[in-house]
Amino acid sequence: MSALLEVKDLVKTFGEGEAATRVLTGLDLQLQTGELSALLGPSGSGKSTLLTILGTLLKPSSGQHTMLGRDLADAGDAELTEFRNRHIGFVFQFHNLLPDFTALENVMFPAAVRAGRETASARERARELLVRVGLKDRMDFRTPKLSGGQKQRVAIARALMNKPELVLADEPTGNLDRESANQVMQLIGEINRDEQTTFLISTHDENIAAYCRRRISVHDGKVSST
Ligand code: ADP
Ligand code: MG
Repeated sequence: MSALLEVKDLVKTFGEGEAATRVLTGLDLQLQTGELSALLGPSGSGKSTLLTILGTLLKPSSGQHTMLGRDLADAGDAELTEFRNRHIGFVFQFHNLLPDFTALENVMFPAAVRAGRETASARERARELLVRVGLKDRMDFRTPKLSGGQKQRVAIARALMNKPELVLADEPTGNLDRESANQVMQLIGEINRDEQTTFLISTHDENIAAYCRRRISVHDGKVSST
């Protein structure tokens, strides 16, 4: 395994002066290529903040951040957008699918944004991914017609569309019943194994964390890992 990303001495403070909240207080973390990790910690401990920074959607107050050999701490917004589109996929607790579009269209969307248009190869990849996540016969359904678990599987397919090295999932099963949650975690495990995609999955559910080979816990704005 080789290091996919590293953050060092990461600090994030929200607000200023007396109202300032120091959420990350000098956090160090390395993720290796191919790891499947759970990010644990109570509500408010900073899991979403860390995932959002690792996803380059939020800038840290200070600290170092590298991924795939690129220095992201000093990168400009345009460079970060390009980097994120190419290398990072996201899955959120609430699937964030577009309700007026079909499952297939939702999955194609990131590639269409990248290419500036819809391409035949993007459609083909989106189809393959939907088959992969077990939704072969739901591709042309608009997303409000799908169950919670099915929607999250569409969201996983969408996250994988641009073949990212890293997928960040923020409580992806938080809104699902146990059976659907287990199916989603099994699917993530298979994709991780087959494609060596690195996953970091926040959860406060031990049953979900049990699917992950590595556990990273956030407390007092830092992480400890096993
Ligand atoms: P978790 O995902 O572990 O529940 P979060 O990262 O969402 O934790 O939040 C950590 C802390 O940072 C909380 O105290 C939260 O209120 C605060 N926080 C998060 N985002 C913001 C923001 N945009 N502005 C101010 N405070 C924030
Ligand atoms: Mg959160």
